[in-house]
Amino acid sequence: MGSAMAEKRGRSRASLWAPLVWIWVGLGTWILIVGLALASGVRRTVGDSLVVQLLVETVIFVGAVVLASIAFGRLRANLNERESELLQAEESLKEARRELEGALEVSETANATLAVASQRFQELFENIPVPCLTCDEDLNVFEINQSSIDLWGIPSHVMYLKNLLELATREVDRQVLAHQVSLAFVGQGGTAFEWHTLGQFGEERILSSRALRFGNRGGAIIASTDITEQRRYERMLNEKMIEVRQINDELVDNKSRLEKANIALEQLAATDALTALPNRRILEETMNVQWRLGKERGRSFAVLLIDVDKFKHYNDSFGHQQGDEVLRQIGSILSEAVRPGDVAGRFGGEEFMIILPDATEKEAMAVAERIRKTVASAEWPRRRVTISVGVSCFDPDYVSTSAMIEAADEALYKSKEDGRDRVTLATPPSAEAA
Ligand code: GH3
Ligand code: MG
Ligand code: MG
Repeated sequence: MGSAMAEKRGRSRASLWAPLVWIWVGLGTWILIVGLALASGVRRTVGDSLVVQLLVETVIFVGAVVLASIAFGRLRANLNERESELLQAEESLKEARRELEGALEVSETANATLAVASQRFQELFENIPVPCLTCDEDLNVFEINQSSIDLWGIPSHVMYLKNLLELATREVDRQVLAHQVSLAFVGQGGTAFEWHTLGQFGEERILSSRALRFGNRGGAIIASTDITEQRRYERMLNEKMIEVRQINDELVDNKSRLEKANIALEQLAATDALTALPNRRILEETMNVQWRLGKERGRSFAVLLIDVDKFKHYNDSFGHQQGDEVLRQIGSILSEAVRPGDVAGRFGGEEFMIILPDATEKEAMAVAERIRKTVASAEWPRRRVTISVGVSCFDPDYVSTSAMIEAADEALYKSKEDGRDRVTLATPPSAEAA
């Protein structure tokens, strides 16, 4: 490159000096002609004006020199200009060379980086803890990584060009594999799919894989996750879930049975077995509730104490079981005779009690009378059955529920005394005091 520059510069100088040479050659020729003219007597043709002739020739000569100098000056300026252009070109050339060297350096660095990246990628593919393999469109295997070798126990040179479908154990999986790889080659891969294969010890493994096209050389990469254990745990979990559900169903069933049993038990505990009426405990609880309402809120209520007349005789005459039948029938009459909210129960033996919330004396007497008549006029299998009733109404002067019941009992006794089959109203304590 340097020698070419020097050569160019030499050529430029030579072309610069060429006119000067010609000027001097011209000047020499002119002097020669003048000399020859003088010698050959040309002056004579001019006559005696040699001096004038010389003067003219001198003027011509000076003119020629001036013209030559001007030409020389121009040439010099031209030369300088060219030299400066040359220097600039040289400078640009140096700059271009520097840039070229820089670019070369960058390119070398890039190449080195690329080599390192390629090496790193190779190592990554090799050591990634995910079985990966590459294949072509016909499912021929090319590269496999260490995880794949560990999974299948097949070295890479044996696996090379082996058909991928040979690895699948089920026909349906082979179809799935072929389909997914074909999808990858049209750029629609990447969806996870499952397939079965045999591991290095011949054991069945389940893989979840994704197939993706890579590069432009017609290759697909298949990355897989071994989900055999996951599926096993899922199966176990499902089985356990089914067991838990069964146990839960049984529990729910048992709970519902227990609840029903509890309700039945509660009913049993609250019900008289013979008549199916509420028993004495319920009657006492109801009395207590009504008593509090009466005491605290001044609400009235009435108690009817009912006793079957001459029942001992009935039993004696027709047997205990027939007596039971009478008690059952009376129980049914009582439960039908009362309104919702009233409580009719068996107080004990052949005695019954009815509690009438909010009832006045008059209403209570009416109810008692109605029931008495119903019993007396009912159809009985053996003989007519009657009842005697004692009625007591809430009075704030009663000291307790027992006192109120006692008053009803006294009224009942009065009914018996008066000839039975009748209703008697107890005198409240406030009236007695008056
Ligand atoms: P009174 O008119 O004075 O009430 O005479 P009574 O015979 O009904 O009176 P008493 O108290 O002497 O007799 C009650 C009878 O009721 C005695 C008892 O055997 C009978 N009795 C009590 N509980 C039952 C029962 O659950 N079933 C049967 N069949 N009889 C019962
Ligand atoms: Mg009695
Ligand atoms: Mg009786």
